Amino acid sequence: MKTLEDLEVSGKRVFVRADLNVPLSGDTITDDGRIRAVAPTIAKLVERGARVVVASHLGRPKGEPDPKFSLAPVAVRLGEILGRPVAFATDTVGDSAKATVAALGDGEVTLLENLRFNAGETSKDDAERGAFADELAALADLYVGDGFGAVHRKHASVYDLPARLPHAVGDLIATEVGVLKRLTEDVARPYVVVLGGSKVSDKVGVIENLLGKADRILIGGGMMYTFIAAQGHGVGASLLQEDQIPVVQDYLKRGAEQGVEFVIPVDTAVSGSFPDVKTGAPVEDYAVVDVTAIPDGALGLDIGPRTAQLFAEKIADAKTVFWNGPMGVFEHPAFADGTRAVAQALLDSDAFTVVGGGDSAAAVRTLGFDEDKFGHISTGGGASLEYLEGKTLPGLAALED
Ligand code: ADP
Ligand code: MG
Repeated sequence: MKTLEDLEVSGKRVFVRADLNVPLSGDTITDDGRIRAVAPTIAKLVERGARVVVASHLGRPKGEPDPKFSLAPVAVRLGEILGRPVAFATDTVGDSAKATVAALGDGEVTLLENLRFNAGETSKDDAERGAFADELAALADLYVGDGFGAVHRKHASVYDLPARLPHAVGDLIATEVGVLKRLTEDVARPYVVVLGGSKVSDKVGVIENLLGKADRILIGGGMMYTFIAAQGHGVGASLLQEDQIPVVQDYLKRGAEQGVEFVIPVDTAVSGSFPDVKTGAPVEDYAVVDVTAIPDGALGLDIGPRTAQLFAEKIADAKTVFWNGPMGVFEHPAFADGTRAVAQALLDSDAFTVVGGGDSAAAVRTLGFDEDKFGHISTGGGASLEYLEGKTLPGLAALED
């Protein structure tokens, strides 16, 4: 794999596939960690006189422009972080992109509009993806892959585009992979994995591969309700993936056989409705209940205090912790306690701690923790998990020589 240093970039148009998929509230960026993480790569290219064309996805638009998912606010923030103007193209491969790229001088930067405003970006059809990659390739001479949070996706800008241009790995991805290697080779034990978040289907599958690796697996976030249901309890209106119940039952059985301890919550915070995370309005019907007694219609939105205590005990003696996924809907203060407790437990342990995932990293920072106190805060959740599973990540494979 070539690195930035191996590329002759002066005067060249360098396409940087970044992951600028930051959390937004309206058009306000609530956590700019992913922008700051890739800024050094862009700054390095600027310094060496490249014409830098930055591209990213944001959110999950449906293959066509959707102002809700515009990268325009990100261009402004990126400019502030770099301390230089960032020209924003209002499309990805159209007239605006072509004109903006053509106008770039040496050492100047442009950000293209959301890659996923184009159906070709995420298409399962090789030809459709390839056609979009051809259009992207026309905008650049060189490719730098530095969007770690997207390397597990076989998308046009991640997988097909580097095949069309001389390419190198960016500094962010190089760092991320270096850390994750530490979690796959000679990991210090006990090795505790904490899983949460909302993408239940994505994350339940990951457990399969962790069975042979982790000593303890702590389950919080939306996924916990599928585990609770698998133990025969009702979960009210909480997130539940019914088709995964037999899979989860099998994990629990194999965990018991193989000496992998699953730690399932014993209590949960609930409400009758999803909280207003925008205003943080008080939750009138907040309650903590045992997981064996979740009322009909109740939404489980966080682990409860007894579970937080239990998780802290299970983390205390760890030598390695990997954490992906908030324990609850931390965006609302009423449901942030579980996530805060896990973050604190990581800091209180002597373990090498890795926090992965866009929302998990944002949670740690917005809850006021000092990110430097963690061993590593990864910009990629799904990507880190798939790396730890030992899968070949399309966006890393594509960067090989
Ligand atoms: P990451 O980005 O760190 O990989 P995810 O994207 O999987 O994490 O999940 C983050 C989201 O999960 C947060 O926005 C949080 O509000 C949500 N979440 C956590 N617990 C629950 C729950 N019990 N019900 C619904 N959503 C939840
Ligand atoms: Mg997320």
